[in-house]
Amino acid sequence: MKQIAIVGAGILGLAQAYTHAKRGYKVRVYERSQRAVGASVRNFGMIWPIGQKAGLLCDLAMRSRDLWVEVLEETGLPYFPTGSLHVAYREDEEAVAREFAELEPERARWIGPSEVLSRSGSVVGEGLRGALFSEHELLVDPRLIVGALPKFLEEKYGVEFHFGTAVTDVRKLAADQVFVCSGDDFETLYPEVFASSGVTRCKLQMMRTVRQPQGWELGPALAGGLTLRFYQSFKVCSTLPALEARIAAELPEYDKYGIHVMASQTADGAVTIGDSHEYGLDVDIFNKEEIDRLILNYLQGFAKFPSMAIAERWHGVYARHFDRPFFYARPEPGVSIVTASSGKGMTVSFGLAEMLYENPGCDF
Ligand SMILES: Cc1cc2nc3c(=O)[nH]c(=O)nc-3n(C[C@H](O)[C@H](O)[C@H](O)COP(=O)(O)OP(=O)(O)OC[C@H]3O[C@@H](n4cnc5c(N)ncnc54)[C@H](O)[C@@H]3O)c2cc1C
Repeated sequence: MKQIAIVGAGILGLAQAYTHAKRGYKVRVYERSQRAVGASVRNFGMIWPIGQKAGLLCDLAMRSRDLWVEVLEETGLPYFPTGSLHVAYREDEEAVAREFAELEPERARWIGPSEVLSRSGSVVGEGLRGALFSEHELLVDPRLIVGALPKFLEEKYGVEFHFGTAVTDVRKLAADQVFVCSGDDFETLYPEVFASSGVTRCKLQMMRTVRQPQGWELGPALAGGLTLRFYQSFKVCSTLPALEARIAAELPEYDKYGIHVMASQTADGAVTIGDSHEYGLDVDIFNKEEIDRLILNYLQGFAKFPSMAIAERWHGVYARHFDRPFFYARPEPGVSIVTASSGKGMTVSFGLAEMLYENPGCDF
């Protein structure tokens, strides 16, 4: 039986483990921490095809979404097929949302204020012009899922997990194929490959509310107008530059910190809120209170929850390549590096693992 070794128990490593174990390979996963603590447990848990550019990435996101459902059904772990709303309060936001709906009607549609409010009790009604509604997005609870998948993979597919084990030399793993899914660690394995790769880091600040009252539901995941300038999918809209110019002039501090504002719900009923984007290899270990304040101020313009009290604040870091959608390299025979899935790693994880399995020679 072919032996597969995987470095990293984040979502990209777990997706590789699932993909190979399901096909009968003997899989071992090595994770330096006692449990995964990287980007995969610090995110919104949004499986978010709506953010991906039409073509390869959107197709990959949609395939990955189906695989997520398959995995979560198999595990019995919870997920929420809520869809998403990008709410519009300004003329330029409405213009972008309507244009996107016209250009890509199979992905999303424009809905008026009354339909928005019937789909979500959390959207602020005052000044609401409507929203871009997509039914494809799923919410998962990242801490719950990434924490529980190893046990499931161990019990169902005999995957071996070695937590608390930092890999410093892949040759010692004695495997036919090694996948290095080391997230934003560019220093431990193949530092010379990373040094010339063009990858960098992105730091994101996040918050979570207290648990909302029993039975309360956020409904569709929410995004405000700022998000329309963030995801690649919306770059097809000819109306986008006007929105970007207005935000740059009106809200320069949101551009300075790369802030856009979204909300998702966790399995225990809290609301996850974020985020900002600060780029560079040298990540500031301290959070900026100003960023949290800007996020919460903007959020209050479009969303209201029974309790807006914040229970947790943290930041996450992901690896990003500015010219490629991922960093995929094969530094020596039998070794693949798969990382830099940037802000779409949860979304594409299972689809990406399947795609690389079927076409290991693909070039991003
Ligand atoms: C705040 C935030 C919000 C986000 N929101 C979303 C979202 O809603 N939807 C979405 O699709 N994406 C989102 N993302 C992006 C997504 O979380 C990442 O793309 C994804 O989690 C990256 O997964 P990974 O497995 O590559 O990295 P990680 O989750 O960072 O995992 C890498 C693991 O490798 C381990 N490791 C590294 N080196 C070694 C070694 N030498 N030996 C052993 N172990 C090692 C690390 O300890 C770590 O556990 C978000 C990211 C952040 C930070």
